[in-house]
Amino acid sequence: MGAEQKGDGLHPSDIKKSLEGKIQKSVVVPEYLTGRSRFKFACHPGIPCFTKCCSGIRIFLSPYDIFRLKKRLGMASSEFLMAHTVPMTIDGSPLQIAGLKMKSDEQRSCPFVTPEGCTVYSDRPLICRYYPVGMGFMKKFDRKTGEDFFIMIKEDHCLGHAEDKGWTIDEWRKDQESDIYDSINHDWLEVVLKVKTLGSVEFSARSLELFFMVSTNLDLFRDMAFSERFLNAYELTPSFIEKIKTDELELLKFSLAWLRFTLFGEGDIKVKEGARGKGRERRQETGN
Ligand code: SF4
Ligand code: SF4
Repeated sequence: MGAEQKGDGLHPSDIKKSLEGKIQKSVVVPEYLTGRSRFKFACHPGIPCFTKCCSGIRIFLSPYDIFRLKKRLGMASSEFLMAHTVPMTIDGSPLQIAGLKMKSDEQRSCPFVTPEGCTVYSDRPLICRYYPVGMGFMKKFDRKTGEDFFIMIKEDHCLGHAEDKGWTIDEWRKDQESDIYDSINHDWLEVVLKVKTLGSVEFSARSLELFFMVSTNLDLFRDMAFSERFLNAYELTPSFIEKIKTDELELLKFSLAWLRFTLFGEGDIKVKEGARGKGRERRQETGN
């Protein structure tokens, strides 16, 4: 989306309403694609539609998107959330995540778009990196073949499809560094896909809160992870504690692994023997 050189308190339902017309004009090609599927596409500053894709859209923010953007803007998690996000729900899921807050101009422009392009290009969100390939929550995973499936989005205004540069989806993901984002977000994406698959299974309010907190606010997770109660509950080696204390990206990866473990018991995080009973008691008290 809008290659290189490439807030305002609205209620999410207002934004959704104003975007419905544009969203309906999107064309999702009715075909599941794999990493080996080929397509032609190029996006560059000289193209007549340059930055036309950077308004009137819903941009979901993954945990690594928020991590990169808040660093880029020199903001704390809560500052970034207040200034640049609105809550959004993923269709067919009870989960709430953060979405990028668009400007209140007629086009609902992205706050980072200028006529010269995206001002946060090297830290742009995953959804912008994937475009025109459908990413994340749209993607399906075939457990039999172990392959991810993708979709292609073709919108009338996007002239990139008429360019002659050919890619496989895997080449595109690598070129746009979407593969790095997917790898860092891996545990989180597993949670999102699993909750979508489980559909009607009810999650406690506490689980939904934890999901939102871990998905959006690394500073809050840090406070929790270095509390005495947390450190007494999990088997974490001193060198691992030092690593997540000094390397924020490692802390982010741990937070997502912890979320998956806490919601689904998956992964290799270990609860200390003495903390198991206490955890059960706490869950009974909180209904989690
Ligand atoms: S962050 Fe905004 S300006 Fe940048 S590519 Fe995405 S939509 Fe466009
Ligand atoms: S509309 Fe398509 S080709 Fe044009 S700037 Fe956006 S992504 Fe690139």
